[in-house]
Amino acid sequence: MIEAKLIINGREETADRLISVVSPADTRVELGTVPDAGSEQVDEAVRAADAAFPAWSARPLEERQAALVAAAATIHDMIEEYSPVLSRENGKTLEESHIDLEFASGICGYTAGIAAGALQEQIIRDTGGSTLIRRRAMGPVAAITPWNFPVVLAFMKIAPALVAGNTVVLKPSEYSPLVLTEVIRAVQQHFPPGVLNMITGGDTAGEALVAHPLIRKIGFTGGTETGRKVMATAARDIKRVTLELGGNDPAILLEDVDLGEETVRRMAEGAFAATGQVCFGLKRIYVPNHLHDRFVEAFAAAVDAIAVGPGDDPRTTMGPLNNSAQLRSVEKVLEEAVAGHATVTTLGRKLDTAAWDHGHYMMPSVVTNADPSLSIVAKEQFGPTVPIIRYTDVDEVINIAANSSAFGLAASIWTQNEERAFELGRRLDSGSVFVNSHSFRSLDPRAPFGGVKSSGMGREFSPASIDAYTELQTISRRIGPPGPPIS
Ligand code: NAD
Repeated sequence: MIEAKLIINGREETADRLISVVSPADTRVELGTVPDAGSEQVDEAVRAADAAFPAWSARPLEERQAALVAAAATIHDMIEEYSPVLSRENGKTLEESHIDLEFASGICGYTAGIAAGALQEQIIRDTGGSTLIRRRAMGPVAAITPWNFPVVLAFMKIAPALVAGNTVVLKPSEYSPLVLTEVIRAVQQHFPPGVLNMITGGDTAGEALVAHPLIRKIGFTGGTETGRKVMATAARDIKRVTLELGGNDPAILLEDVDLGEETVRRMAEGAFAATGQVCFGLKRIYVPNHLHDRFVEAFAAAVDAIAVGPGDDPRTTMGPLNNSAQLRSVEKVLEEAVAGHATVTTLGRKLDTAAWDHGHYMMPSVVTNADPSLSIVAKEQFGPTVPIIRYTDVDEVINIAANSSAFGLAASIWTQNEERAFELGRRLDSGSVFVNSHSFRSLDPRAPFGGVKSSGMGREFSPASIDAYTELQTISRRIGPPGPPIS
C-alpha cells in the first residue's frame, strides 16, 4: 500500500477525502490511496509555488541544472524497485513501466544539458544603440498529466519548467498516481521548498489549478475534450498553454512495404504497446488494395503472439486496460464496428489468471471491412484494437488518412524507399512522421514532439520545450534607429 500525500511547500499533507487506487489486473486489490485535494489546498500549493518563484528564478542556471541532474539520478535509482509497482497500478508491462521511469530520468538529464544553449541571451549592438533579447521564466506553472505514462509525461513538463526558473504545481491523474507521487517525494531533496509541489485529486482539482489567477502557464497532456476546457479556462487570464492531446495516428503502407516478420511485428508493437493506450500509437493501418489480404494474414499472426495477463507478470506482453471507463469506451467502439458490419477478429493468448473477470482485460483484435464513418476509423480508440483499411491511390490516402483528419499527432510511412517516405512525410499534416517505425523507439528527445489541429499545440522535447516555459523579453537602449553593426 502506498498512502500518498500532497506535497505543498516541501511539506506532506493529506485531505479529508482519499481516493482509492485499485489494480487494473484485479480491481478487488487496493494498491494505495491519494488525497483528493480541495480548492483551499490547490490555492495553498499555488501560493507556495508563487512564493518560491523569485528565489528559484534568480538562482544561477548551473544550480538549477545541477538539481535536475541530481533528480535524474534519484529517478534512475528507483527504476528497478518501482517498475513492478507501476505495472501493478497502471496495468502495462514491466518493460513499458521501465521505459516510463527511464525516460523520466533521461529527460531530466537531457533538459539540464541543453538549458544553457536554450536560455542563451542575445545582444544586438549597432550605431543606434543596443538591444538585449532574453528568455524570462514565467512564474508558477501547472503540470496536468494523464494515466498512461504518468512519470515521463510529468517530467516532460517539470524538467523544462524548472530549469528555466519557473516553479511547478503538478496534478497527476487519479488513475495511476502512486509511483509518480513516490518519485516526486524522492526528488524533493534536490529542490527548495515550494519549487515542486504536487496536489492529487480528480478533475475538479485540475480545474481549480488551471483557473487559479497566479498560474501563468499550463502544460497539459490528456484527452482533446479536456484540452478544450483547459484552453477555455486559460483564456480568461490569457494564460499560456502547451497541450499534448489525442491522436488517430495512421500507418501508411506503400506498395514496396517490407512484409517480413520483423517489420510486421514492429507494426503490431506500435499498435498494441501499453494495450493501445499511447497517444501517438499506431491507430489505423492503410494498405494498398492488392496487398490487403497478405498483410492481414501476416499482421494477425503477429498479433496472435501477444500474451495477455497482469502487467507485472514477466510472461505478459500486453496488460489490462488502465480503468473501467477506458475498457467500456473501447468495448463500445467494437460493438459499433460489429453493428456496422465490420469484421472484428479477436486474437492473442490469455495467460491463465484467476482474476481475469475482475480485471480490465481485453484481448487484442484487428478490424477489417470497416466503413470510414465508424468510430474505430474516425476516432481515437485508445485500446487494443486496430482497423486495417484498403486504399488504391497514395495521394488520396494522404488526404484521407492524415490531412482530412481532425487529429495530427503522428503518422508513419512504411516503404523500402526511404527517400520517397521523407518526401511524402512533408505532405502529411502531422506533428511527427515516422519512417518504418511507430513506437517509443521512433521518439528522439532532441526532436520537438507535439501535434497539430485537435492533437494539441506547442511542443515538448528539444530546446522548444524550454522555450515553452519562458517569455521573450527585450531590454533596449536605443537613441537612434538601427544602424551598422558594431562588432
Ligand atoms: P483526461 O483528459 O481525462 O485527463 C488528463 C488530466 O486532466 C487528468 O489529470 C485529469 O484529472 C485532468 N482534468 C480533467 N478535467 C480537467 C479540467 N477540466 N481542467 C483541468 N484538468 C482536468 O485524459 P486521460 O483519460 O487521463 O488520458 C487519455 C488521453 O490522453 C487520451 O486521449 C490520449 O490520447 C491523451 N494523451 C496524449 C498524450 C500526448 O502526448 N499527446 C500522451 C498521453 C495521453
